[in-house]
Amino acid sequence: MDIEKLVYLFTEGNAQMKQLLGGKGANLSEMTGIGLPVPPGFIISTTACNQYYQKGDSLMEAVQAEVDEALAAVELMQGKKFGDPNNPLLLSVRSGAAVSMPGMMDTILNLGLNDQTVKGLAEVSGDERFALDCYRRFIQMYGDVVLKVDHAFFERVLERKKEEKGARDDTQLTSEDLKVLVEQYKGIVKTKASREFPQEPMDQLMESIRAVFDSWNNQRAIVYRKIHKIPDQLGTAINVQAMVFGNLGEDCATGVAFSRDPSTGESKLYGEFLVNAQGEDVVAGIRTPLPISQLEGLMPELYNQFHDISRRLETHYRDIQDIEFTIEKGRLFILQTRGGKRTARSAVKVAVDFVKEGILTRDEAVMRVEPEQIDQLLHRQIDPKAQLDFIAKGLPASPGAASGKVVFNADEAEKMNQQDEKVILVRPETTPDDIHGIVAAQGVLTSRGGMTSHAAVVARGMGKPCVCGCESLNIDLEKEVFSVDNVTYSKGDIISIDGGTGRVFVGEVPLIDIQLSGEFREILEWTDEIKSLGVRANADNPQDAKKAREFGAEGIGLCRTEHMFMAQDRLPIVQEMILSESEVERRKALDKLLPIQQEDFYGIFEAMQGLPVTIRLLDPPLHEFLPDSEELVEELVKLKLTGGSLEEIRAKQILLKKVKSLSEFNPMLGHRGCRLGIVYPEIYEMQVRAICQAAAKLSKEGKEVVPEIMIPLVGHAEELRIMRELTQQVALQVFSEQGITLDYKIGTMIELPRACVVADQIAEHAEFFSFGTNDLTQTTLGYSRDDAEGKFLHEYLAKKVIGENPFITLDREGVGPLVQMAAEKGRGLKPDIKLGICGEHGGDPDSIIFCHEVNLNYVSCSPFRVPIARLAAAQAKLGKKAGGYGD
Ligand code: ADP
Ligand code: MG
Ligand code: MG
Repeated sequence: MDIEKLVYLFTEGNAQMKQLLGGKGANLSEMTGIGLPVPPGFIISTTACNQYYQKGDSLMEAVQAEVDEALAAVELMQGKKFGDPNNPLLLSVRSGAAVSMPGMMDTILNLGLNDQTVKGLAEVSGDERFALDCYRRFIQMYGDVVLKVDHAFFERVLERKKEEKGARDDTQLTSEDLKVLVEQYKGIVKTKASREFPQEPMDQLMESIRAVFDSWNNQRAIVYRKIHKIPDQLGTAINVQAMVFGNLGEDCATGVAFSRDPSTGESKLYGEFLVNAQGEDVVAGIRTPLPISQLEGLMPELYNQFHDISRRLETHYRDIQDIEFTIEKGRLFILQTRGGKRTARSAVKVAVDFVKEGILTRDEAVMRVEPEQIDQLLHRQIDPKAQLDFIAKGLPASPGAASGKVVFNADEAEKMNQQDEKVILVRPETTPDDIHGIVAAQGVLTSRGGMTSHAAVVARGMGKPCVCGCESLNIDLEKEVFSVDNVTYSKGDIISIDGGTGRVFVGEVPLIDIQLSGEFREILEWTDEIKSLGVRANADNPQDAKKAREFGAEGIGLCRTEHMFMAQDRLPIVQEMILSESEVERRKALDKLLPIQQEDFYGIFEAMQGLPVTIRLLDPPLHEFLPDSEELVEELVKLKLTGGSLEEIRAKQILLKKVKSLSEFNPMLGHRGCRLGIVYPEIYEMQVRAICQAAAKLSKEGKEVVPEIMIPLVGHAEELRIMRELTQQVALQVFSEQGITLDYKIGTMIELPRACVVADQIAEHAEFFSFGTNDLTQTTLGYSRDDAEGKFLHEYLAKKVIGENPFITLDREGVGPLVQMAAEKGRGLKPDIKLGICGEHGGDPDSIIFCHEVNLNYVSCSPFRVPIARLAAAQAKLGKKAGGYGD
């Protein structure tokens, strides 16, 4: 049988070997290779880890043999021997998988110390205190990590010693103090682990290796992998490295730094260090670390050396680096480097700066920024100058800030929203039954649940601010109050949440509008040069249209007209129209609507001058504009009981009758879309007239308008033929009345499977198709979205019946081929037919990649997602593939 190599010296690896050597090991090797000062060491590979799980202890013999060999090489380089009582080589043992993972085994430092070698270390360093300090640290770390003795036992003893000695810092303890501590620590191990602290260095090393392997399968690590879709068979590697000492005196230090500011992207070192300290002292908060800038004053040469190395690493890795270092008696050592995690703001600035510095090309920079991450920059934020009344902090589950009145249940949230009240839904946690409340609320606040809880996932999907797991909140649903630190807040009180930071405030906070930074604008301009897919926005009013244009939309892909019918000043006219008994009456009501609609369209056309605007004619079933029948029955009963006038009662009865006659078993599949236009052509006539008159007016004012009239829910070519004829007649009439001619297009939504199948027939009457992928998903899957998301989709996702919410990411297997077929059939008949999608998928990066792949002309999405879509479209062009897990 082939024997695989299990152990690699740092000199044998490189950055490409992450899978085999883990991220940390691969980078330590890479840095060694480019000549940076990395203490020598070796890596036990992920293959060894996986084999350990297959073969168990029998593998350890093979590991031992290779470790012996690698260790000998390290001993040679360091001129010290492991376990040598006179001049011992000490080691650090660290876990490191291919993707960084919390829950894995912690680092062990100073391995190889025992009652003998500690004396040798004291001797060669000439510093007994230092040797004992290393020893007590080692016993604690080894005790904690390998022998599972809680570190609190050791820390308690240390604290007591410090108190007894009046020492503020551990550095103030003397050799004598430490000698006592070491004995106490060994005692703790003996009682808590029921065994002696192991004195044999090789036993220490092999036991540590085994402990790291075992930690791959501890509960925390397993759960983390599951959540982040990290395959179990990846395995972890182990890094064994010669120790260097930051705790050998005042000319020593240890620290961590980012090569650039990870929150702003500013090009200067960002980090902290501690003089005379070791390992994790900096992050452990034992002493307050100093900002890295102060290293310049203390050790100017070393600071400059570190600065140069940080620059070199950035250029080498072509990315921000997060670097760990130690200074031993005036010598700098680099102990780790990795790509630095950063905020969206920093990611954008760094990507652009890297291009200016010649580190990245524009294409590469565009690929560096995650479309979903920039979502953070596209939500309203709290005015940084505002005085805030902070009450609690939870998890930053969905970015953006919101204010509103506290409500404790979804029905109430919905009701208050209907009365134009802004509300924040406050719940211990949410369930699918609360969806309508989340929809109605400005934001969601929960006291339980993490970043992947229902509330978090749903809110992020909807782009609503959400703070989750705010545990200091004590919610009493019965009394409809919550308390924090003994202060009680009731239903109706105004609070604000900041979903980007997890903070909760009392009262309303001032919000500022979104500002795109110079770098953000710049990178978006680059995306426009790269992408071939157009990006339009869905907007129903001039404000949204303006916002969309500001964010770079190249037109409106969907302007819905039903919202215009819903507005308070129109609803009575719309209802009058619906209740009309005859066409003549209906036309009278429609005549009243005409000038109002014309104004609506005028505003949008004006905002979008020179760019195409796709207006969809009325789509929802008419009963949506009438009151609810149950409410009407109640009102009728009330009227009768309170002696309402006969006239009033009669009017209500007529209304009720009409509501009942219009009510549908399944409105989603009912009398809507072009089916309305066929039965009541006068409605569409009025809308087309309003569109053409608005366009004519602007055109006369010298402004360029590009109207596209869209007929919804076509399934038969004949439907579109009839509607097209009607549209053309009205347009012709208006233009002759106005004495002008104007270009406009007629097209249709493709949102029924039948329409996809007969797309060639439909194309005969259409200049464009716009895929309404939300309805197409509903009709293809046979799901009504609200019912699915409210009832079973959550379970389906949890049980992995389906991988992704098909309403958020386009179902490539089921809906995708229909889109592709329709596109091909449409183009087959009319090669220059324009193809786009509108609806939420148009703002989802993975769905955008699909649209690029099937060669659509544009996607259309919410104005706030336009920048995300531009970036995603450019990345699609640059070859990015959908899905997959990242680090
Ligand atoms: P983490 O994954 O938590 O960053 P590391 O494995 O990087 O853990 O180790 C934590 C710290 O231990 C390092 O930042 C460094 O300060 C210290 N350390 C690790 N190896 C050595 C070494 N060979 N010499 C000195 N200190 C070390
Ligand atoms: Mg750690
Ligand atoms: Mg580290």
